[in-house]
Amino acid sequence: MKGAVLYGPRDVRFEERCTPAIAAPTDAIIRISASCVCGSDLWPYRGINPITQPTPMGHEYCGIVEEIGSAVKTIKPGQFVIGSFFASDNTCPHCKAGYQTSCQHREFVTTAQAPILRVPLADGTLVPTPEVASTDLIPSFLAASDVLGTGWFAASAANVKPGSTAVVVGDGAVGLLGVLSAKQMGAERIIAMSRHEKRQKLAREFGAADIVTERGDEGVARIMELTKGVGADSVLECVGTQESMTQAIRSTRPGGSVGYVGVPHGVELNGEKLFYSHIHLHGGPAPVRRFLPELINLIWKEKINPGKVFDLSLPLDQVAEGYRAMDERRAIKALLRP
Ligand SMILES: [Zn+2]
Repeated sequence: MKGAVLYGPRDVRFEERCTPAIAAPTDAIIRISASCVCGSDLWPYRGINPITQPTPMGHEYCGIVEEIGSAVKTIKPGQFVIGSFFASDNTCPHCKAGYQTSCQHREFVTTAQAPILRVPLADGTLVPTPEVASTDLIPSFLAASDVLGTGWFAASAANVKPGSTAVVVGDGAVGLLGVLSAKQMGAERIIAMSRHEKRQKLAREFGAADIVTERGDEGVARIMELTKGVGADSVLECVGTQESMTQAIRSTRPGGSVGYVGVPHGVELNGEKLFYSHIHLHGGPAPVRRFLPELINLIWKEKINPGKVFDLSLPLDQVAEGYRAMDERRAIKALLRP
């Protein structure tokens, strides 16, 4: 089979790779219906996370189960399934606590920009839909695999509740779906921080009432103005830079919460400032598996349409263009069809 391989900065190739096969009795092999390029794939693509050897790419996926290992009990061939970027057993203490991305047996799934994928710990990792998904729902199920699950975790970690004022820092796919998530959790007012017209429009569609285009001190000042000097109850940090994290913390009211899901790159926090801010900080790699059953149900019943974040759809052999379009911010998120 052919799949995506990253060779170095801005060098993604579509080339021959080994077709995965069952390696452990708990594995499943799935035929991918759709995969995509993640905002976090751009860190190695841009050379910020160095690549030392040709590296297969992709960690967002949904598709049809083709084969299962001898120890797999609940997942069956023919099912349409969604999994996430960490395989997890869903039975260890961390999984039971709802933190499947810290599973004691976790394995990173990194080869999903391909037609066939091996998923470890299939029973714990994969969640089937009630029936095989229709083509029009596939983008939304694919979104549940990572960006929706991550935006949902940001809103959950930021303690969004009915009546909350929520601020979303970051207008990538995760930030936009953080807006959708905050809306679903009952936020009364959602303020999205974005400078990009197309993304502002989608943020409004997903439920944002206000858009703030300023950043840094000016951005914080604008949030304070919009919240009558109080700050927001909940802030979703969906970028991972020093500027975005500082902006998130300074936009939060005393007693409020920051849910941070942007992978930190060079972020340092001042303990004393944090101490006097009186805020809750919670985040990390989103335990998407915790939310998958609920998200699948919302998508199946067509209550949410997170698939709208895919504004570019390409055949898998044009994966390099998908990376380029996202790198140049021409596309919010690129869907890839094997
Ligand atoms: Zn576990």
